Amino acid sequence: TDLSTAASPPTAESTLQSVFGYSSFRGRQREIIDTVCAGRDALVLMPTGGGKSLCYQIPALLRPGVAVVVSPLIALMQDQVEALRHNGVRAAALNSGLDPAERRATERALDAGELDLLYVAPERLLSDSFLERLARLPIALFAIDEAHCVSQWGHDFRPEYLQLGVLGERFPGVPRMALTATADERTREEIRRQLLPADAAVFIASFDRPNLTYRVGLKDRARDQLLRFIRERHAGASGIVYCMSRKATEQIADFLAGHDIPAVPYHAGLDAATRRRHQERFLREEGLVVVATVAFGMGIDKPDVRFVAHLDLPKTLEAYYQETGRAGRDGLPAEAWLIYGLQDIYRLRQMIAASEAPEAHKRQERQRLEALLGYCEATGCRRPVLLGHFGESHPGGCGRCDNCEQPPETWDATEAARMALSCVYRTGQRFGAAHVVDVLLGRTSERIQRLGHDRLSTFGIGTGHDKGTWQSVLRQLLAGGYLEADPEGHGGLRLARGCRPLLRGEATLQLRRDLPAARKVRSERAA
Ligand code: ADP
Ligand code: ZN
Repeated sequence: TDLSTAASPPTAESTLQSVFGYSSFRGRQREIIDTVCAGRDALVLMPTGGGKSLCYQIPALLRPGVAVVVSPLIALMQDQVEALRHNGVRAAALNSGLDPAERRATERALDAGELDLLYVAPERLLSDSFLERLARLPIALFAIDEAHCVSQWGHDFRPEYLQLGVLGERFPGVPRMALTATADERTREEIRRQLLPADAAVFIASFDRPNLTYRVGLKDRARDQLLRFIRERHAGASGIVYCMSRKATEQIADFLAGHDIPAVPYHAGLDAATRRRHQERFLREEGLVVVATVAFGMGIDKPDVRFVAHLDLPKTLEAYYQETGRAGRDGLPAEAWLIYGLQDIYRLRQMIAASEAPEAHKRQERQRLEALLGYCEATGCRRPVLLGHFGESHPGGCGRCDNCEQPPETWDATEAARMALSCVYRTGQRFGAAHVVDVLLGRTSERIQRLGHDRLSTFGIGTGHDKGTWQSVLRQLLAGGYLEADPEGHGGLRLARGCRPLLRGEATLQLRRDLPAARKVRSERAA
């Protein structure tokens, strides 16, 4: 690295100012940079937008040799390289997007020691010829970006990442960094085990996003709820709405547009030109809503997204954190809003039950779902639940989540839960919530008579509660692991292991009292 034109040797501070144009370091950037400059290895966990790049870019400029940055995302590589060149840094990328002439030029610059930073895709880095080429050069450091890709149970697993461990053997003495924005406790351990030596320094920044307000509601009529949410709280604002299915993104975008809210769909089934057009409009325009599947968002850095809405449950709590994290990057107030219902929980439980994955994998998937549902059904402040998932403690009482704003009522649902569970059992563990509720409430129909369910001991035992309460009880029993979904996906509920202590009278159960969505709608309209 050659900054010899400067009068005195460059420091982290002077480089931050002269190259990047920033006045001071953020959070623990300075500590991380010092650690790596001193030749130590480091694990860096920072939320998206936290400023991870500088943590390796500045050591890249301060240490002799070229810094090799491993990244799985070609588009992001290209952005970074352009931004660095714009600041006068000698950066380049090697990936499958280059034509042979460009590739040769970059390799020549690398060999000649004319690069400060080289971004490279993992499969290219790992090729024998490339490793040999690097072995002939002074290397400033290795930075492994998106390090969670090493986790086999994660959704972004890249097999090549597992082989990056060889860097330690082939390049002893060259500091290695692993950086990621997504890592629960388990993933973090995997990163350390696979990519770093045991004595690597660990830097974990707070994952709290203080300017985000978290709200979770019950799904009733999703489209109307969304429309009201945007009109009443985010009129004219830019936002992202996440849905499960491609079709839903199109229908909802049309629906919003039909109600004078500029909206476009985005999903992997749209042709590349349309996707690019919609993404560019979102970045450029103010007040556009993108209705998208999870295909949207990777690498989107729009500072003034005022809300992220989920009309379906995200896959995991990490995914939720990641997706909601796209709101409020400018530090101004923004909202993460999610609605869900029994059907969503049922669908996710059923997907896991029906999957052909090995049992160990399914167990992990179940644990991930539990964590997500624990967040959704939480009766206290949501921040301790969300941040706790990233190994961070939070005292609660944040004042910026729905449960802090309006603490939910809870009630002793032990008796009701036992009734509901025995009704599921007596009806043969094959029926969905609607049928179970009918039996509990003693509703007769031709079907119920034909099945003989009007002669069951549980027929009509639940008249002490209304339909909404029973639906709420069943949802929470399903969310809490007392009930499970039948793996065939017919909508049937079955008893799960978790219900035994309750049925044996060894445990009691407190449930939250839902505000019926319909009543909420009316009172909001009246207000
Ligand atoms: P991450 O990779 O963690 O998502 P980036 O490295 O892309 O985050 O940084 C996010 C934004 O913050 C970028 O626009 C970057 O230029 C800016 N940034 C990073 N560090 C600082 C700093 N010390 N001062 C001002 N801006 C910074
Ligand atoms: Zn709170």
